Amino acid sequence: MKTIIGNWKMNVGARESVALARGVLLALRGRRHLPEVVVCPPFTALTETRKTVGRTHVALGAQDVHWEETGAFTGEISPRMLVETGVSHVLIGHSERRRLFGETDETVGKKTAAALAHGLVPVVCVGETAEERDAGQTEAVVLRQLAAAFSAMPARGAERVFVAYEPVWAIGTGAAATPADAAAVHAAIRAAFRASVKGGDRTKLSVLYGGSADPSNAYAFLRETEIDGLLVGGASVKLQQFTDMIAAAADVLEGIAAAPASV
Ligand code: PEP
Repeated sequence: MKTIIGNWKMNVGARESVALARGVLLALRGRRHLPEVVVCPPFTALTETRKTVGRTHVALGAQDVHWEETGAFTGEISPRMLVETGVSHVLIGHSERRRLFGETDETVGKKTAAALAHGLVPVVCVGETAEERDAGQTEAVVLRQLAAAFSAMPARGAERVFVAYEPVWAIGTGAAATPADAAAVHAAIRAAFRASVKGGDRTKLSVLYGGSADPSNAYAFLRETEIDGLLVGGASVKLQQFTDMIAAAADVLEGIAAAPASV
Protein backbone atom coordinates (compact mmCIF):
# COMPACT_ATOMS: atom_id res chain seq x y z
CA MET A 1 0.00 0.00 0.00
CA LYS A 2 1.02 3.60 -0.50
CA THR A 3 -0.32 6.44 1.63
CA ILE A 4 -0.55 10.14 0.87
CA ILE A 5 -1.15 12.45 3.83
CA GLY A 6 -1.92 16.13 3.34
CA ASN A 7 -0.89 18.43 6.18
CA TRP A 8 -2.94 21.54 5.55
CA LYS A 9 -1.33 23.36 8.50
CA MET A 10 -2.92 26.76 9.31
CA ASN A 11 -3.37 27.47 5.62
CA VAL A 12 -7.04 26.76 5.02
CA GLY A 13 -10.32 27.35 6.84
CA ALA A 14 -13.36 25.11 6.91
CA ARG A 15 -14.76 26.16 3.54
CA GLU A 16 -11.47 25.66 1.71
CA SER A 17 -10.89 22.36 3.51
CA VAL A 18 -14.24 21.05 2.34
CA ALA A 19 -13.52 22.19 -1.23
CA LEU A 20 -10.13 20.48 -1.18
CA ALA A 21 -11.63 17.30 0.25
CA ARG A 22 -14.33 17.26 -2.43
CA GLY A 23 -11.69 17.73 -5.12
CA VAL A 24 -9.68 14.83 -3.76
CA LEU A 25 -12.74 12.55 -3.75
CA LEU A 26 -13.51 13.49 -7.35
CA ALA A 27 -9.95 12.79 -8.42
CA LEU A 28 -10.03 9.32 -6.89
CA ARG A 29 -13.07 8.29 -8.91
CA GLY A 30 -12.48 5.58 -11.46
CA ARG A 31 -9.00 4.56 -10.26
CA ARG A 32 -8.66 0.83 -9.76
CA HIS A 33 -5.78 0.86 -7.31
CA LEU A 34 -6.28 3.58 -4.80
CA PRO A 35 -3.66 4.77 -2.36
CA GLU A 36 -4.72 5.45 1.19
CA VAL A 37 -5.35 9.19 1.53
CA VAL A 38 -5.46 11.10 4.82
CA VAL A 39 -6.24 14.82 5.04
CA CYS A 40 -5.26 16.88 8.07
CA PRO A 41 -7.15 20.18 8.18
CA PRO A 42 -6.88 22.58 11.13
CA PHE A 43 -8.91 21.65 14.24
CA THR A 44 -11.67 24.15 13.38
CA ALA A 45 -12.26 22.51 9.99
CA LEU A 46 -12.36 18.90 11.19
CA THR A 47 -16.11 18.67 11.72
CA GLU A 48 -17.03 20.15 8.34
CA THR A 49 -14.41 18.10 6.52
CA ARG A 50 -15.67 14.97 8.25
CA LYS A 51 -19.09 15.57 6.68
CA THR A 52 -17.44 15.34 3.25
CA VAL A 53 -15.01 12.47 3.76
CA GLY A 54 -16.99 10.40 6.27
CA ARG A 55 -17.78 6.93 4.89
CA THR A 56 -15.36 7.42 1.97
CA HIS A 57 -11.87 5.98 1.77
CA VAL A 58 -10.32 9.36 2.58
CA ALA A 59 -9.43 9.40 6.26
CA LEU A 60 -9.40 12.38 8.57
CA GLY A 61 -6.28 13.38 10.49
CA ALA A 62 -5.49 16.07 13.07
CA GLN A 63 -2.28 18.06 13.24
CA ASP A 64 -1.58 17.63 16.95
CA VAL A 65 -3.05 16.22 20.17
CA HIS A 66 -2.55 16.58 23.90
CA TRP A 67 -1.73 13.52 26.01
CA GLU A 68 -4.26 14.07 28.82
CA GLU A 69 -7.88 13.08 28.49
CA THR A 70 -9.47 16.10 30.21
CA GLY A 71 -8.38 18.92 32.48
CA ALA A 72 -7.14 22.47 32.78
CA PHE A 73 -5.08 22.65 29.58
CA THR A 74 -6.28 25.82 27.90
CA GLY A 75 -6.16 25.61 24.15
CA GLU A 76 -5.40 21.90 23.97
CA ILE A 77 -7.39 19.09 22.32
CA SER A 78 -7.48 15.60 23.82
CA PRO A 79 -7.32 12.27 21.99
CA ARG A 80 -10.89 11.52 23.04
CA MET A 81 -12.08 14.79 21.49
CA LEU A 82 -10.40 13.85 18.23
CA VAL A 83 -12.04 10.44 18.22
CA GLU A 84 -15.43 12.06 18.92
CA THR A 85 -14.87 14.30 15.88
CA GLY A 86 -14.26 11.35 13.59
CA VAL A 87 -10.49 11.65 13.42
CA SER A 88 -8.52 8.45 12.83
CA HIS A 89 -4.93 9.71 12.36
CA VAL A 90 -2.89 12.35 14.14
CA LEU A 91 0.41 14.05 13.30
CA ILE A 92 2.74 14.10 16.29
CA GLY A 93 6.06 15.88 16.68
CA HIS A 94 6.02 17.83 13.43
CA SER A 95 9.24 19.83 13.22
CA GLU A 96 7.28 23.10 13.30
CA ARG A 97 5.84 22.07 16.65
CA ARG A 98 9.27 21.02 17.90
CA ARG A 99 10.93 24.22 16.70
CA LEU A 100 8.25 26.83 17.36
CA PHE A 101 6.10 25.42 20.15
CA GLY A 102 8.48 23.63 22.50
CA GLU A 103 7.62 20.06 21.54
CA THR A 104 10.24 17.71 22.97
CA ASP A 105 11.07 14.03 22.54
CA GLU A 106 9.35 13.51 25.90
CA THR A 107 6.07 15.19 24.93
CA VAL A 108 6.13 13.36 21.60
CA GLY A 109 6.39 10.09 23.53
CA LYS A 110 3.44 11.00 25.78
CA LYS A 111 1.30 12.07 22.84
CA THR A 112 2.11 8.93 20.88
CA ALA A 113 1.18 6.68 23.81
CA ALA A 114 -2.07 8.61 24.40
CA ALA A 115 -3.02 8.48 20.73
CA LEU A 116 -2.46 4.73 20.60
CA ALA A 117 -4.41 4.20 23.81
CA HIS A 118 -7.40 5.90 22.17
CA GLY A 119 -7.17 3.92 18.94
CA LEU A 120 -5.76 6.79 16.87
CA VAL A 121 -3.05 6.07 14.31
CA PRO A 122 -0.06 8.25 15.21
CA VAL A 123 2.00 9.75 12.41
CA VAL A 124 5.22 10.45 14.26
CA CYS A 125 7.43 13.00 12.52
CA VAL A 126 11.20 12.71 12.84
CA GLY A 127 14.04 14.38 11.00
CA GLU A 128 17.39 16.07 11.31
CA THR A 129 18.30 19.73 10.87
CA ALA A 130 20.80 20.88 8.23
CA GLU A 131 23.51 21.23 10.92
CA GLU A 132 22.87 17.71 12.16
CA ARG A 133 23.00 16.36 8.61
CA ASP A 134 26.24 18.22 7.92
CA ALA A 135 27.70 16.74 11.11
CA GLY A 136 26.86 13.23 9.89
CA GLN A 137 24.25 12.76 12.64
CA THR A 138 21.14 12.04 10.54
CA GLU A 139 20.66 8.45 11.62
CA ALA A 140 21.55 9.09 15.28
CA VAL A 141 19.08 11.99 15.55
CA VAL A 142 16.27 10.17 13.79
CA LEU A 143 16.70 6.99 15.82
CA ARG A 144 16.83 8.97 19.08
CA GLN A 145 13.55 10.71 18.17
CA LEU A 146 12.05 7.37 17.18
CA ALA A 147 13.03 5.64 20.42
CA ALA A 148 11.59 8.50 22.50
CA ALA A 149 8.34 8.57 20.56
CA PHE A 150 7.68 4.89 21.06
CA SER A 151 9.18 4.50 24.54
CA ALA A 152 5.72 4.05 26.07
CA MET A 153 4.13 2.13 23.22
CA PRO A 154 1.45 -0.16 24.62
CA ALA A 155 2.05 -3.88 24.18
CA ARG A 156 -1.37 -4.18 22.54
CA GLY A 157 -3.38 -1.89 20.32
CA ALA A 158 -0.59 -0.65 18.10
CA GLU A 159 -1.35 -2.69 15.00
CA ARG A 160 -0.60 0.25 12.78
CA VAL A 161 1.70 3.23 13.17
CA PHE A 162 3.29 5.69 10.79
CA VAL A 163 6.66 7.32 10.99
CA ALA A 164 7.20 10.31 8.71
CA TYR A 165 10.84 10.97 7.93
CA GLU A 166 10.93 14.70 7.32
CA PRO A 167 14.39 16.27 7.14
CA VAL A 168 13.90 19.73 8.64
CA TRP A 169 16.05 21.29 5.90
CA ALA A 170 13.69 19.92 3.26
CA ILE A 171 10.40 21.19 4.70
CA GLY A 172 8.99 24.03 2.66
CA THR A 173 12.36 24.80 1.05
CA GLY A 174 12.01 23.20 -2.37
CA ALA A 175 15.13 21.13 -1.59
CA ALA A 176 13.86 17.58 -1.20
CA ALA A 177 16.07 14.68 -0.17
CA THR A 178 16.90 12.25 -2.95
CA PRO A 179 14.68 9.16 -3.05
CA ALA A 180 17.77 6.97 -2.48
CA ASP A 181 18.90 8.95 0.59
CA ALA A 182 15.37 8.92 2.02
CA ALA A 183 15.07 5.17 1.38
CA ALA A 184 18.30 4.53 3.29
CA VAL A 185 17.00 6.42 6.33
CA HIS A 186 13.68 4.58 6.05
CA ALA A 187 15.48 1.25 6.13
CA ALA A 188 17.30 2.30 9.31
CA ILE A 189 14.01 3.44 10.89
CA ARG A 190 12.32 0.14 10.03
CA ALA A 191 15.15 -1.95 11.41
CA ALA A 192 15.39 0.07 14.65
CA PHE A 193 11.63 0.05 15.17
CA ARG A 194 11.31 -3.69 14.80
CA ALA A 195 14.35 -4.41 16.95
CA SER A 196 13.92 -2.03 19.84
CA VAL A 197 10.30 -0.90 20.08
CA LYS A 198 8.05 -3.01 22.25
CA GLY A 199 5.65 -4.82 19.92
CA GLY A 200 7.59 -3.53 16.91
CA ASP A 201 7.74 -6.91 15.23
CA ARG A 202 3.95 -7.25 15.39
CA THR A 203 3.16 -3.73 14.24
CA LYS A 204 2.50 -2.78 10.66
CA LEU A 205 4.88 0.14 10.34
CA SER A 206 4.52 2.54 7.43
CA VAL A 207 7.39 4.92 6.82
CA LEU A 208 6.53 8.04 4.83
CA TYR A 209 8.80 10.70 3.39
CA GLY A 210 8.03 14.42 3.77
CA GLY A 211 9.87 17.56 2.73
CA SER A 212 9.26 19.44 -0.53
CA ALA A 213 7.50 16.47 -2.10
CA ASP A 214 5.53 17.66 -5.12
CA PRO A 215 4.19 16.32 -8.43
CA SER A 216 7.66 16.52 -10.03
CA ASN A 217 9.26 14.08 -7.59
CA ALA A 218 6.32 12.11 -6.13
CA TYR A 219 6.59 9.14 -8.49
CA ALA A 220 10.34 8.78 -7.88
CA PHE A 221 9.79 8.64 -4.11
CA LEU A 222 6.76 6.38 -4.30
CA ARG A 223 8.33 3.75 -6.52
CA GLU A 224 10.95 3.06 -3.82
CA THR A 225 9.83 -0.03 -1.91
CA GLU A 226 11.21 1.46 1.32
CA ILE A 227 8.94 4.51 0.94
CA ASP A 228 5.36 3.71 1.94
CA GLY A 229 4.03 7.12 1.02
CA LEU A 230 4.37 10.86 1.37
CA LEU A 231 3.50 13.48 3.97
CA VAL A 232 2.81 16.60 1.94
CA GLY A 233 2.65 20.18 3.18
CA GLY A 234 2.66 23.03 0.65
CA ALA A 235 1.58 20.99 -2.37
CA SER A 236 -1.35 19.47 -0.47
CA VAL A 237 -3.33 22.73 -0.38
CA LYS A 238 -3.05 23.12 -4.15
CA LEU A 239 -5.73 20.79 -5.40
CA GLN A 240 -4.19 19.99 -8.78
CA GLN A 241 -0.77 19.29 -7.25
CA PHE A 242 -2.19 17.17 -4.46
CA THR A 243 -4.38 15.12 -6.79
CA ASP A 244 -1.46 14.68 -9.22
CA MET A 245 0.54 13.20 -6.32
CA ILE A 246 -2.33 10.91 -5.40
CA ALA A 247 -2.47 9.85 -9.07
CA ALA A 248 1.29 9.12 -8.96
CA ALA A 249 0.69 6.81 -6.01
CA ALA A 250 -2.15 5.11 -7.90
CA ASP A 251 0.18 4.68 -10.92
CA VAL A 252 2.81 3.03 -8.72
CA LEU A 253 0.20 0.69 -7.23
CA GLU A 254 -1.13 -0.17 -10.69
CA GLY A 255 2.44 -0.92 -11.82
CA ILE A 256 2.96 -3.20 -8.83
CA ALA A 257 -0.34 -4.97 -9.50
CA ALA A 258 0.56 -5.48 -13.18
CA ALA A 259 4.10 -6.75 -12.53
CA PRO A 260 4.56 -10.49 -13.03
CA ALA A 261 4.85 -12.33 -9.70
CA SER A 262 8.49 -13.14 -8.97
CA VAL A 263 9.38 -16.81 -8.57
C1 PEP B 1 5.44 19.27 6.15
O1 PEP B 1 5.37 20.37 6.69
O2 PEP B 1 5.12 18.22 6.75
C2 PEP B 1 5.93 19.22 4.78
C3 PEP B 1 6.31 18.08 4.29
O3 PEP B 1 5.94 20.42 4.13
P1 PEP B 1 6.35 20.66 2.59
O4 PEP B 1 5.73 19.54 1.78
O5 PEP B 1 5.77 21.97 2.25
O6 PEP B 1 7.84 20.62 2.52
